[in-house]
Amino acid sequence: MSGIASGFARVPAAALDLSIVVPVYNEEENLPLLWPEIREVLAPTKLSYEVIFVDDGSRDRSAEIVRAFHEQDPRARLVRLKTNAGETAATDAGFKSARGRWVVVMDADLQNDPHDIPGMLTHLDQWDAVTGWRVNRGTGDSWVRRASSRVANRVRNALTEETVQDSGCTFRAFRRECLRDLVLYEGFHRFVPTLLKMRSYRVLEVPVNHRPRRFGESKYGIGNRAWSAFKDLLAVRWMKDRLLRYEIAEDLGGEGPSDERRSRE
Ligand code: UDP
Ligand code: MG
Repeated sequence: MSGIASGFARVPAAALDLSIVVPVYNEEENLPLLWPEIREVLAPTKLSYEVIFVDDGSRDRSAEIVRAFHEQDPRARLVRLKTNAGETAATDAGFKSARGRWVVVMDADLQNDPHDIPGMLTHLDQWDAVTGWRVNRGTGDSWVRRASSRVANRVRNALTEETVQDSGCTFRAFRRECLRDLVLYEGFHRFVPTLLKMRSYRVLEVPVNHRPRRFGESKYGIGNRAWSAFKDLLAVRWMKDRLLRYEIAEDLGGEGPSDERRSRE
């Protein structure tokens, strides 16, 4: 199946309360800790849920490990990409496979804390999406990482006229319907709040815990991130500038079926 945005029509409406999407690239040591931690956090909430581990062409035993989770408990799902396609692609595949009324996305590396999830979900009554703001990064990332992400954040905010505190945090929660309008390109996982706001969705930024990466390594360095993220930023800025902005003042004789309705008849 290709990654073209066509999956939603086939997904039954909100079969579950919650889908958690976890992009996974070589995280064999983290998965056996993450899955029980998620289960433990969600047990008292009584929510019906699935955890979609999207294996992004890992070269270690990640897929095998998730398969074993699934055999024990079908709430753990595996969506495996044929080859490594990048974090945005893995996230997109997870979004398209999600069946929950709410969707959470989080890293596989235990840096995001599942204990934040119930709190994030409480905001979805009032907001369309919630994005994390890593308030205690001091303990989770080196000063070089923090400094570079502070610069990236400022540049991003300046060029896209945003006020996001922590655009690099990909720990987020959504009402599933807003993901339908989200067309992602490689690298766009960094711009999801801006892309949603462009579509008039309301996005709240909330503090989240941030933990050190204990196992495996970050897939990004400053070198491989800065330049491509900057090019992506220019694309998002262009999209924001060129967004179609109009209001229909009058529509005479528009009572017939729209193209969309006609195609469903
Ligand atoms: N990831 C992925 N495909 C990739 C790179 C990363 O699915 O090509 C996943 C990775 O396993 C992790 C998340 O995306 O769950 C974020 O990656 P990482 O932790 O390396 O980024 P950082 O937190 O260092 O910014
Ligand atoms: Mg990480």
